[in-house]
Amino acid sequence: MTYDPNNIFAKILRGEIPCHKTYEDEHTLAFMDVMPQVEGHCLVIPKVGSRNLLDAELSTLTPLMATVQKVARAAKTAFKADGVQIRQYNEPAAGQTVFHLHFHIMPMNEGQAIRPHAGKMADQGLLAKQAEMIRNAL
Ligand code: AMP
Repeated sequence: MTYDPNNIFAKILRGEIPCHKTYEDEHTLAFMDVMPQVEGHCLVIPKVGSRNLLDAELSTLTPLMATVQKVARAAKTAFKADGVQIRQYNEPAAGQTVFHLHFHIMPMNEGQAIRPHAGKMADQGLLAKQAEMIRNAL
């Protein structure tokens, strides 16, 4: 299994396709998931290319997890959530559909239903507003 630099998240990193950014630093980028499973669902990716967690360098994971924590806290605050679910899939058998390492951040309230994975596209205006809410809570 190799890393394909033409995956959609690599294109986002190169600025070839847009995203609703919530956070960026030297090593990582966070943006809204276009098919959110809950309100405020966003993704955190490293700028270095790896296919998933299984082939990632340890040096990639340290700044990545720092950003996961930072954005998870902000998403929880922005959406007044009771908790945050973090998901991460490795290889198609485990549900991975985009082959650039990423963590899902999903603010959750008690008893909240979760929509299907990679299901329905959200309204772009709503995603832009939600990204701003998370940025404001950082
Ligand atoms: P997975 O690889 O299964 O962990 O999930 C990939 C996630 O990326 C899904 O939740 C998709 O909704 C999301 N996704 C796919 N394309 C884009 C995109 N262009 N911008 C933001 N999120 C995306």
